[in-house]
Amino acid sequence: SCKEGINEVSDNEHPIYLDASVSVEERIEDLMSRMTLEDKVYQMCQYVGLEHMKHAENNITAADLEKNDALGFYPGMLSKDVAELTKEGKIGSFLHVVTPEEANALQKLAQEAPLKIPLLIGIDAIHGNGLVSGSTIYPSPISQAATFDDNLIKEGSRQTALEMRANGMHWSFTPNIDVLRDPRWGRTGETFGEDPYLVGNMGIATIKGLQSDDFTGDDSVITCAKHLIAGSSSINGLNASPTDVSKRTLFEIFLPPYRRAVQEANVFSIMAAHNEVAGMPGHMDKFMMNDLMRDRWGFKGFYVSDWNDISRIAIWHHVAKDFKQAIEFSVNAGMDMNMHGPVFDTLLIELVNEGKVDKSRVEYACRKILEAKFKLGLFENPFVDVEKAKAINFSETHQKIALEQARRSIVLQTNKDHFLPLSANGKGKTIFITGPNANNQTTLGDWVSPQPEDNIITMLEGVTALGEKKGYRIDYFDSGDRSKEITEANIEKAAQMAKQADICVLALGENSFRHDWKRKTTGENIDRATLRLSGNQMKLTDKILEQGKPVIIVYVSGSPIAEPWLEQRASAVVNTWESGAFAGQATAEVIFGVVNPSGKLPLTIPRSVGQLQMVYNHKPTAYIHKYNTEKKVPLHPFGFGLSYTTFEFSKPSLSKETFSGIDDNITVSVNVVNTGEIAGEEVVQLYIRDNISSFTRPVKELKGYKRVALEPGESKTVTIDITTESLAMYDHDYNFIVEPGDFTIMTGNSSRDKDLKTAIVSVKEAIVIDKN
Ligand code: BGC
Repeated sequence: SCKEGINEVSDNEHPIYLDASVSVEERIEDLMSRMTLEDKVYQMCQYVGLEHMKHAENNITAADLEKNDALGFYPGMLSKDVAELTKEGKIGSFLHVVTPEEANALQKLAQEAPLKIPLLIGIDAIHGNGLVSGSTIYPSPISQAATFDDNLIKEGSRQTALEMRANGMHWSFTPNIDVLRDPRWGRTGETFGEDPYLVGNMGIATIKGLQSDDFTGDDSVITCAKHLIAGSSSINGLNASPTDVSKRTLFEIFLPPYRRAVQEANVFSIMAAHNEVAGMPGHMDKFMMNDLMRDRWGFKGFYVSDWNDISRIAIWHHVAKDFKQAIEFSVNAGMDMNMHGPVFDTLLIELVNEGKVDKSRVEYACRKILEAKFKLGLFENPFVDVEKAKAINFSETHQKIALEQARRSIVLQTNKDHFLPLSANGKGKTIFITGPNANNQTTLGDWVSPQPEDNIITMLEGVTALGEKKGYRIDYFDSGDRSKEITEANIEKAAQMAKQADICVLALGENSFRHDWKRKTTGENIDRATLRLSGNQMKLTDKILEQGKPVIIVYVSGSPIAEPWLEQRASAVVNTWESGAFAGQATAEVIFGVVNPSGKLPLTIPRSVGQLQMVYNHKPTAYIHKYNTEKKVPLHPFGFGLSYTTFEFSKPSLSKETFSGIDDNITVSVNVVNTGEIAGEEVVQLYIRDNISSFTRPVKELKGYKRVALEPGESKTVTIDITTESLAMYDHDYNFIVEPGDFTIMTGNSSRDKDLKTAIVSVKEAIVIDKN
């Protein structure tokens, strides 16, 4: 057997596991054979980086810690203790290591341990390696989804992997494939929106870009699908609060992106969610973690806990009596790594010795973590070249993709009487720009450290650069930040300046910028009880509108803004989401018509918070009745976004009308004509509806989309394949099946009925895709 082989050539001087020419399997076996139970448990331990620890030591008091365990730093534990543990080989992984120097220093400590096992360094590289200063900041996930352009997202993710590896990081806690069903959730901007298919596609593009060929080698990282499951739909919109959805909704809405991340992209880790679903905390949900993901759907990677969430099984959820019992429940359910901190190791070792956790669980976890380290090439070289990191961060090719993503993500929501684009000849007219998001880094979104100013183009900088080139004069006033800083005096001053100007640009919206704690209005643990503009923004806007000048509203926000009245009164509303380093440039290009907007909404924008839950893919009876005081249509539907040109769509034509068998597909063709006067891009969308089904199904489900670029007058035929599987649903016993009958195919450029044309396909006999 391979074990005998190992013994023949392996010795302590030249152990097999350090020999790169040997297969990964053999190397793992060799190393495992040299490890004690304790060593294996240490691989399951993750700690926060030393810089972060030091920051906590300096800024967090014991009283803070007692008040809020969410801070999660351990009283009495210092960065020097963590360094000591690393040297002793008692730590397998770190998170939040934010410089290549720190990564190297930690790896150096790890090399002092007897087995010299390198560290796996994880980081929230959500849209670029943003926690590292000087990285390329791509648009945030919600913006990425608005591009409806999988390849462009994959390309950005590939570049992020290169930046990560150059800086000594090997594992990104992305993609967030939480299907967003409640935009009050502060993390809306971190998601790919409300549709399971779009979320799945974007998640897969992200995983494939980052992991590339099975993450073998030194230019890829492993990814992490998170958070299992449904924290994006808590009952009150608050983070970590309970979710109470049916099993059917889990399978139809929340789980499809996970199944696909596992089966189509081999995601190598999954993070459990803070929340409970129907009484079961995510971190001990054996059905989800083990029975469904591993046994039924074939997940081959490892689970990581979310921040301190194993201990919270006891202290938050009260279903375990203490941390030890929480570890027992969690590891037995399938958990493989604890984020973050001490004590986990000693308690887990005790649990194994007491027979409460089977040793095989520890063996499994350790093997998977080692597999990642071997495949990533960390045993060959755990260190990075700091100079090389500097050269690759924010390199020109990376900037190009970040800019292209920003351009395609911007959604033109309102454009009264074709107010935009502004004329290419400014004739000395004055544009006045103000608002809390006009001249700062809020455009970068969450999970980003402050970036060098030279790397970022703010709204003001973008509008000034392009505006002046086109002959406009630009006036700016800093209105102050959302709440107290937008004072009466500032509002007065801004109104005066608006009066003098010909056109006003108001950069409004929210703030999820991680390091701006005091000013954040959205983001993780900052949820919204209203979808209206926060603070004094509407006061400022009212006063400026009163001056009678045309006003262009630029929203900077990861979550939707529901201000129907404002959309009626503004000349234009440009939703720029959080479009990253080049937000200002891309927005200016849209305003001045250098770029024809083509982004589409990846979520419904409701008119008011009272309309929630409002999603396009609702069940048939959702709007049988109406509200007393509110419309039952949204402000803007899913899939919607204006262009400066117009497109006409033919009816969908089908390569055939009947599906036969599991591997069949039908090609749907749509002819699109640019009937306007300028070139533009359009996103052709394809939805299906199961006309009669044994359980109710959504009135529409997105199943395909394609971007098409057309010159004025040009027409192209766009083809989208639909597979048998895309018609599938879960039956009574949760088999994944296609029922016989007719399905309506709808194609067009938004999810709204009047934007869609239809055809019918049929299925003659029941087809089983995946048996429970
Ligand atoms: C978040 C995760 C994140 C982790 C590490 C948690 O609070 O929920 O999404 O990956 O922190 O930063």
